[in-house]
Amino acid sequence: MAQTTPITVAHGDGIGPEIMRATLAVLEASGARLDIETIEIGEGVYRRGFSSGIEPSAWDSLRRTRVFLKAPITTPQGGGYKSLNVTIRKTLGLYANVRPCVSYHPFIATRHPGMDVVVIRENEEDLYAGIEHRQTDQVVQCLKLITRPGCEKIVRYAFEYARRNGRRKVTCFTKDNIMKLTDGLFHKVFDEIAVEYPDLASDHMIVDIGTARLADAPEQFDVIVTPNLYGDVISDVAAEIAGSVGLAGSANIGEHVAMFEAIHGSAPAIAGQNLANPSGLLLAAAMMLVHVGQGEAAARLHNALLCALEEGIHTSDIFEEGVSVRQVGTTEFTAAVIERMGSEPQKLRPVKYDDAAQPIPTTFKPRPAAEKKVVGVDLFLDWNHGRPEQLAELLRAIETEKLGLTMITNRGVKVWPQGAPETFCTDHWRCRFTAREGETAHRDLVDLLDRAATAGFDFIKTENLCTFDGVPGFSLGQGQ
Ligand code: NAD
Repeated sequence: MAQTTPITVAHGDGIGPEIMRATLAVLEASGARLDIETIEIGEGVYRRGFSSGIEPSAWDSLRRTRVFLKAPITTPQGGGYKSLNVTIRKTLGLYANVRPCVSYHPFIATRHPGMDVVVIRENEEDLYAGIEHRQTDQVVQCLKLITRPGCEKIVRYAFEYARRNGRRKVTCFTKDNIMKLTDGLFHKVFDEIAVEYPDLASDHMIVDIGTARLADAPEQFDVIVTPNLYGDVISDVAAEIAGSVGLAGSANIGEHVAMFEAIHGSAPAIAGQNLANPSGLLLAAAMMLVHVGQGEAAARLHNALLCALEEGIHTSDIFEEGVSVRQVGTTEFTAAVIERMGSEPQKLRPVKYDDAAQPIPTTFKPRPAAEKKVVGVDLFLDWNHGRPEQLAELLRAIETEKLGLTMITNRGVKVWPQGAPETFCTDHWRCRFTAREGETAHRDLVDLLDRAATAGFDFIKTENLCTFDGVPGFSLGQGQ
């Protein structure tokens, strides 16, 4: 007797309860064997004073079942509320966000009939670490953190996903022509791992031109892997040009837990009116069934949905005169999908899923740490009293026996020595002190700071300049 899989379900806000009701009915009709635990998340929980939108007891259910089918929620406006999605992703380590974006030409209007792209977005790092500071009167900063384990996990996931799903090519999007260390690491890890998959084509594109090409000719792409922020943007672009954001499902995969949801939000304006399209959550439910090893039920559900779509039975968001046949509400659409359970689409390509659960293992290879040497320090100052040459003169006075001033930049542009008179300067300065003799010690950095404080400098922070196995771990100034 096949096993029943425990899952956790949240009905969410806005259209959430309607599309979840629809999805659970379709899941039951598909023959999926699920043992459902329900938790409450979203508006009601925020209102009860839990600023994260989830009650502490809900985590127990998620840890127990390790599989979460989630309807969209409404994030209350205003400060003091944390995004529940970000909290869940980061707390449970859901590092891979997988969003298939497929067009259903000619049954749903799209300019891209051949589109079948999967965007795999890194889900935990990058600028989404949310570490922000106001440093001076004029300048705020957000830290972009990219880690080697994070890159290895997501890039390997993308290649494994491609191989297991009969895909041919993995494309990496970064901006490493500008961010040579952070995006550069993502690209480097991509190149390292790509050689382990000779059966798959791989290439890299700068994210700006890559996004333009994706919007213009998505049929040229297969699997795309990219850091968090770019992935957030391009996965919405990809879903929208495929047909509608209302049609796409997504998986958030971690080592221990996986969460499945539609990519759209709670659409409060159409809530409770039987207007919502449940397809995004239905496709997320199919991804969930594949994940738990119920591929046969997943294929039944997915094929029944394709049958309804190709027969022109459409909710109002995708209804188009001359293309669609019948405009229906959420409940009629759900009934149409259930009626077609067991059928295969005649014109769209039917799907087939393996019934054995083969979760992609989370892997990164431990490696010996590189030899690290401190060779200087960037001292960041809040200073608003003149030109760079004047600042340089003041800083020359605090140089130490070990550390000498070698460069000043403002917003990354070198302004001393030999700056350009046209460069606009703010009150935020990076002053680079370099070891006079190869290496320096933390004590030397403290001495420099001590002299800076005595001279009355308002220092904001320091960043140590290090080499790793002799390779500099810091960027040059622009114009250096
Ligand atoms: P939205 O996705 O809810 O709606 C955008 C547009 O698409 C609206 O016109 C809406 O009516 C339409 N739409 C969305 N889903 C649809 C569906 N299934 N069927 C038919 N039409 C659909 O985005 P929004 O308006 O920016 O956000 C509304 C709320 O949802 C906000 O509180 C936001 O924070 C939240 N949100 C939640 C999630 C989530 O829980 N995963 C994701 C995105 C936004």
